Amino acid sequence: MSTIFHKIINREIPADIVYEDEHLLAFRDIAPQAPVHVLFVPKVDVATLNDLPRGQPELVGRLALAAADYARREGFAEDGYRIVVNCNGDGGQTVFQLHLHLLAGAPLGRFGTTL
Ligand code: 5GP
Repeated sequence: MSTIFHKIINREIPADIVYEDEHLLAFRDIAPQAPVHVLFVPKVDVATLNDLPRGQPELVGRLALAAADYARREGFAEDGYRIVVNCNGDGGQTVFQLHLHLLAGAPLGRFGTTL
């Protein structure tokens, strides 16, 4: 499976990369929904949260820790932030490589529903 995020991981298209390690890449969202909007993406292929291998919960844990570390480094951990993982159609997922959104930099409204 190749998505736009795989192309970013493979440096086939550019992105504003803010963090990388052997397991994951973090880069700024091209259409930010908050003053800070960074995506944390694992390097292994996992299309959606539904596809997270049961034996590899650390895969999501690493994304969460990387996001919390980033928030601390950038100085907004205490002010706060939001982590979002969209899954499939009703969740609003548009890129089918698992990713965690980190949103911060201003008080965020309650997250939306159609209810
Ligand atoms: P999803 O809707 O799947 O949860 O989130 C996908 C996110 O990827 C969206 O917020 C969208 O703005 C972002 N995005 C889509 N294409 C690109 C791209 O080429 N580069 C970057 N940096 N972000 C992208």
